[in-house]
Amino acid sequence: MRTCAGCRVKEENEDFIRYVEFEGKPLPDVARKLPGRGFNVCPDFECIKTFVKRYFKGKVSPEDVFQYTLESLKSYFLHLLSLSHKTGVTVVGQDNIRPLGDREGTLILASDLSEKTKERLIKPSYLVVDNIFTSEEIGNALRKERMAGAVFVENAGIGRKLLKAGKKLVMLVNSRK
Ligand SMILES: [Zn+2]
Repeated sequence: MRTCAGCRVKEENEDFIRYVEFEGKPLPDVARKLPGRGFNVCPDFECIKTFVKRYFKGKVSPEDVFQYTLESLKSYFLHLLSLSHKTGVTVVGQDNIRPLGDREGTLILASDLSEKTKERLIKPSYLVVDNIFTSEEIGNALRKERMAGAVFVENAGIGRKLLKAGKKLVMLVNSRK
């Protein structure tokens, strides 16, 4: 168990975003691999704000930390999507996703997909990562020339890591809505 450097809540390691101090600023360590003293922070703007004011006052603005944390979490998520696709735990395209049974996994929906289409694909057992990526960004991660509007990733193998990163990403985005 670790403690949030913002709100002080105790959670499992992997539920936090880890930061290390680099050149006087908090650097997000999204893969949790960098050496050095680490800070654990909830994926929440309020916690980032408190954390930055407490440890990095006057050195960087909470808004900047939020923005670059979001960017870094987004690229990490796309990287995991790429790896998931290579290891065969992805189902690509609406027609292939619709017949899937109720199972655990991550459903990634592009921001340019229609609401009607999205409704038809969502199931209660899915973590839904919606409106965060364009179909071009998703397509690029899959190394396809065409764009991809919808991808399902099984909660297996690298897909487990993706699900955890996806939860943090969704929480972080929602904390600013
Ligand atoms: Zn917190």
